[in-house]
Amino acid sequence: MIRINENYRKLKASYLFSEIAKRIASFQASNPGRDIIKLGIGDVTKALPAACIEAFHQAIDEMSHEGTFRGYGPEKGYAFLREAISVHDFQSRSADISPDEIFVSDGAKCDTANIQELFAQDIRVAIPDPVYPVYLDTNVMAGRTGTYDDGRYGDIVYLESTQDNNYIPELPKEQADLIYLCFPNNPTGATISKDLLKNWVDFARSTNALILFDAAYEAFIRDESLPHSIYEIEGARDVAIEFRSYSKTAGFTGTRCAYTVVPKTCMAYDRSGQKYSLHDLWNRRQTTKFNGVSYPVQKAAAAIYSEEGKAQVTSLIDYYLKNAVCIRREIQALGYACAGGVNSPYIWIDTKSDSWEFFDLLLNEAGVVCTPGAGFGKCGQGYVRISAFNDYEKVEEAMDRIRQALGR
Ligand code: PLP
Repeated sequence: MIRINENYRKLKASYLFSEIAKRIASFQASNPGRDIIKLGIGDVTKALPAACIEAFHQAIDEMSHEGTFRGYGPEKGYAFLREAISVHDFQSRSADISPDEIFVSDGAKCDTANIQELFAQDIRVAIPDPVYPVYLDTNVMAGRTGTYDDGRYGDIVYLESTQDNNYIPELPKEQADLIYLCFPNNPTGATISKDLLKNWVDFARSTNALILFDAAYEAFIRDESLPHSIYEIEGARDVAIEFRSYSKTAGFTGTRCAYTVVPKTCMAYDRSGQKYSLHDLWNRRQTTKFNGVSYPVQKAAAAIYSEEGKAQVTSLIDYYLKNAVCIRREIQALGYACAGGVNSPYIWIDTKSDSWEFFDLLLNEAGVVCTPGAGFGKCGQGYVRISAFNDYEKVEEAMDRIRQALGR
């Protein structure tokens, strides 16, 4: 008899985006013709930078001639992209990462989802609350979380991110072997200083734990004192894996390109305490299960590091950051406390009410869609996330409508 992986039954139905869609559909049915502004889901709206488009076209032309055509590429990614990443994203910030430690992939979602395969079943996993749901759900699927009760899985160490700790969780008091961190954070928009990040690196070093650092929103950092990479912190090379993505950096959500850094000094242990290279394990995993990102996509990604590409990406991110500043200013002027919106495309708002009630208020009274914070975890209850990914004019109009709807 074919049987299922029963861990899937422990998954909490991911009803967040389907419930949002249902409420939008019902609003549209009772308000035909009323225009809705979507500031909910974190997808970009602006086109790819011109430098990427040009590189894409050239690569497609190469693929159309036998002399320059390419078939399967290297599983880790082409050297031209890994070299550009190493120089521009790491060495330029004094982070010692070599091209050989970089694995190009088709998304930070799949990498953050797949990485947990490398680890034992009975490790303790520490996950932020609120959180990008992929970290938690993939550990549920793998059977590491125990059962779900009252908003929490029994075997997970929750790292609570609240207003009281400026959305930077405290170090766990209990055992935590695998620790997920994400800065700038989705959904709270919070960033972390070098000093606080160093506490996490030191903690991992002293307990033989591993940090999975998701830096998908690194490009939004404008404050020069903030770390873009965990490898800017001394000692991180031995205890951290970092995930990056071109999705929000350069509008690649539909084009798909990202990368994961697994330093060669990063180790994990077997039961007897013997060390294993995580780089070798991830390499083994990727070469077995992944066949690389297409050549034109990698060429388009590499164009981000050209002089024109860098300037275009900066102005793209500046555009969304201008939206974020507008949203943050208006929300604060209405008397709500919020996080994010600087060095981040997300604004996390304390609604002083129930997340879904506030969602309904914005939808029904202003025709604006946000994301209820309760969908990101127990600590998200009472919050909503507004995303800066839209046209500036639409964001201005949304904020006008919100101001009128909230009657102030
Ligand atoms: N990590 C975080 C924190 C995200 O918010 C997202 C996308 O929303 C991803 C990873 C996924 O990135 P990608 O599009 O590269 O799969």
